[in-house]
Formats: sequence, C-alpha cells, structure tokens
Amino acid sequence: MPQEELGYVELEWTCQNCGTRNPGTRKNCVSCGAAMDAKTKFELPAQQELIEDAGKLSAAAAAPDIACPYCGTRNPSTATSCKQCGGDLKGGQAREAGGVLGAFDATKQPDVKCPSCGTLNPAGAFKCSNCGASLKRAPEPAPAAQTSVPTRGISPLMIAGIVAVLLLCAAGAYFLFFRTSDTVGTVAGTSWQRTIAIMALTPVRGADWQDRIPTDATVLGCELKPRRMSQVEEPNSVKVCGTPYVLDQGTGAGKVVQDCQYQVSEEYCSFTRMQWTVINTVAARGTDLQPNWPLYSLATGEREGNRAEEYRVIFDGGGQQYTYTPNTVNEYTQFRPGSRWLLKVNGLGNIIETTPAQ
Ligand SMILES: [Zn+2]
Ligand SMILES: [Zn+2]
Ligand SMILES: [Zn+2]
Repeated sequence: MPQEELGYVELEWTCQNCGTRNPGTRKNCVSCGAAMDAKTKFELPAQQELIEDAGKLSAAAAAPDIACPYCGTRNPSTATSCKQCGGDLKGGQAREAGGVLGAFDATKQPDVKCPSCGTLNPAGAFKCSNCGASLKRAPEPAPAAQTSVPTRGISPLMIAGIVAVLLLCAAGAYFLFFRTSDTVGTVAGTSWQRTIAIMALTPVRGADWQDRIPTDATVLGCELKPRRMSQVEEPNSVKVCGTPYVLDQGTGAGKVVQDCQYQVSEEYCSFTRMQWTVINTVAARGTDLQPNWPLYSLATGEREGNRAEEYRVIFDGGGQQYTYTPNTVNEYTQFRPGSRWLLKVNGLGNIIETTPAQ
C-alpha cells in the first residue's frame, strides 16, 4: 500500500531517573541532567504539531540517533564522537525506529493546571510559565468500562431442560405429521386446471460493467461507478487515505504518514437484450374427470412455454370435508363422484394416503 509522508512531529520522553517530561530533541533531562538511555521509549507529545522549522525538519528526518557505547548518551547519526563523554561512536547502537506510536491528531488539547501554583498552561508545555514547576501530562481519558459477562458452564439442570424441550418438539411433530387416523370418505367434488405459458422474444432491461455486457445487447447508456481498489493511480481514480499515524523516527521526532489507495471507477451500463419471456398464459378448467389442455394459436415469433396441471378432490367423511390434491392425471381420474375411499389423515387434517373402500 503506498505510504504518504505528511511531515514530522516532535516527540517527548520521560526521564528514567526523575520522571520529568522532556522534549524529544533534548538528549539530557531538563531537570536532573541524566542522559536519555536506550531503553527509554519516545512517546507521542501531549500536543501534536507538525514541525515547520527547516533546520528542525532536517534533524527530525535524519537517520536514527546512536547511543554512545561508553555512556549511553544519544548522539545524532552524523556525530563521530560522543558530545557527553567524547567516546568514539563507532560500534554504537542506532536507536530502534519505525514503530507505530499512535494516531496523528493535531487538534488543540485542553490546558493543563500546574500542580504547584494552579496556573493553566498549554497541553504541550513542559514547565509552568508562572512558577517553573515540571508539568505532568493530563491523564488519558479513562477507556469506556467493558461489560463482561461471566461465562458459566452449562449446568445439568439446563441440559435436562433442553432435553425436555426437544422431547416436547419431537412429540408435537409426531402428533402433527406422523400420527394418522383412518376415516372413510365419499368423493363430493373434483376439479382440474391446466395452463400453458406463451412466450415471445421481448427486450429485457439489464445493467452490468461494460466488459460483462452480453454481446447481443443494445447499450442504452453508461456512467462511471466505483468498482475496485488499486495500489497505483489509474484513469478515473480517486485517492482514498486512512487515518494518519506517527512512526518513531529514532531522532526524537516522529514521521507522520498515511496509507493510501486509489478507488477506480469504471463504466457501468444499462442495456436491453431480446429474451424469451412469458407474455401470456392460457388455461383450461373443469370439474369432470376428462382434463384437457387449453387450445391456443401462436402468433409469429411466439412459442410454447411451461405446461402446468393441478387436480383437486373434495371428500366428505365423518361430518368433515377433506381436500386432496392428486399428483397425476391417472390418479385423479379414479375419483368418481360418490365413490368411497379409505383416507389416512394426519394431525394437520391433510390426507396422506387414499385406498378404495370395499
Ligand atoms: Zn531527570
Ligand atoms: Zn558517551
Ligand atoms: Zn506553576
């Protein structure tokens, strides 16, 4: 992902000896003079601000500082001897760099009250403007309390409950679908319906990316729409960047960067295309036992589509009416009006089997 540089911010560090906050560019503690040791980490400053000064900028962007192998003091990467003890810096360890310190946020932070005299100082100040006392960072806003639900094991009582519910469901299903009762029914009525769909080639609207339009389609119009992300700039692309963040440069400054991609738009087109479509349905209906297919004539360019058939038989049995839907015409034509049948009826009142009664 292409990374863009937005500038540099001065970081800060807390003295490992006395706890005083120090600007990132200072190599020694402003309070006790101790040199910042290699283990002490740089932190985001209390008030982030992009460095404008050209001299500070080139120092910020330099290679990571080197720790003196004799006294541990930080020295610029360009130095050859330690400015603290004069020791040769050859063989000195460069500070680790490149770690992500956090999001870049240059909005103005609330003033900080001096613990000694109560004077309000800008969030980025290290010393009180009134009494000179070292200032602490404003406490970070407390993270939202996390509600955690204590996880409990499944108790034997719960298992018993679940088993009971499952048994009840099974019993209900058995009662509704599988438990049947037998009854004798007389055919009180029959009906049938047969339909045939009539189809014709009709222009059907569609829409798709330009490279996916069927070859036989007629394009009506196209417009650019975002389609995919790209690592490089392309025609019809817009840059989309993530939240800027700060990387430890190892010089007391942080590099502000953001990760960007390009959202590429491509032509999205609407079109029409001739497709076989149902334009009409012809039907025949009756109550006799001789179903027939509807008669129809096709106009030029039309053809027959799907055929469908539906049969229904009404039984009177035990003071109740039952409706039955035979699956085939051969089954249907057996149900002569007035004939008697042995019916298997399930808990929902549906006939699931019919046999001629003697
Ligand atoms: Zn100190
Ligand atoms: Zn030294
Ligand atoms: Zn003060």
